[in-house]
Amino acid sequence: MSNTLEITNLNVSIGDKQILKDFSLTIPKGEVHAIMGPNGTGKSTLAKAIAGHPDYEITSGEVLLDGESILDMEPDERSRAGLFLAFQYPMEIPGVSIANFIRAAKNARLSEDEELNAPAYYKELYEKMDMLQIDRKFTARSVNDGFSGGEKKRCEILQMAMLQPSYAVLDETDSGLDIDALKVVSEGVNTLRGDNLGVLVITHYQRLLDYIVPDVVHVMYDGRIVKSGDKNLALELESKGYDWVKELAPAGA
Ligand code: ADP
Ligand code: MG
Repeated sequence: MSNTLEITNLNVSIGDKQILKDFSLTIPKGEVHAIMGPNGTGKSTLAKAIAGHPDYEITSGEVLLDGESILDMEPDERSRAGLFLAFQYPMEIPGVSIANFIRAAKNARLSEDEELNAPAYYKELYEKMDMLQIDRKFTARSVNDGFSGGEKKRCEILQMAMLQPSYAVLDETDSGLDIDALKVVSEGVNTLRGDNLGVLVITHYQRLLDYIVPDVVHVMYDGRIVKSGDKNLALELESKGYDWVKELAPAGA
């Protein structure tokens, strides 16, 4: 289907351990889906497998971005195709400033005869940094180098705001954020919401979903989705904890 990020029967292993088990999920553009689940269930594995991380072996299944398979694409091709990943543990890139990093990523999206307009680029960068309440002195700082947890997460959303992907997967973007930073980051994501963006928010806690209100909530356990519902499902999980979720897994799993 076009205008969707469609994951079908995805099986993913790390070494000889199978993590994702016939995992299926379709995210239409314009919708925000949330995945919640206990630690170790495979949420980050899903994000990294979609991104094309080399440690995660896809043994079968399909991932279609607007109807086209991305599984044979390199991670940078997937990014140029419109996919964005915000990692649970963002990488530090000493020696590469935020401004140059995002500029290189934007340049990579232009054709050979196009050139990025530097003043327009900085204008956009500063506007979006202001939106995310990131101090302008960060422009010259190396990507994530010595950043606090919250600063890294804001920096990830800044990249997303600048690259304007079609689909964004945000892996525990709330971890390490205090309540003020959580609000800022959520507002940033909400500003980017719209008909041209599909979002998958991965979180362990319901709190984030008070600010980024999802259209659909999925509960993940042991490598697969065991229940889906509306935003109230997140509240149910919050009050009941994750223990009852185990009983929803298929027998013998
Ligand atoms: P979640 O994000 O839901 O907490 P993960 O996807 O990080 O779960 O992990 C799922 C399972 O895969 C866990 O058992 C974890 O120990 C294992 N795992 C994740 N990454 C690796 C890795 N790089 N090498 C080996 N095992 C891994
Ligand atoms: Mg994780």
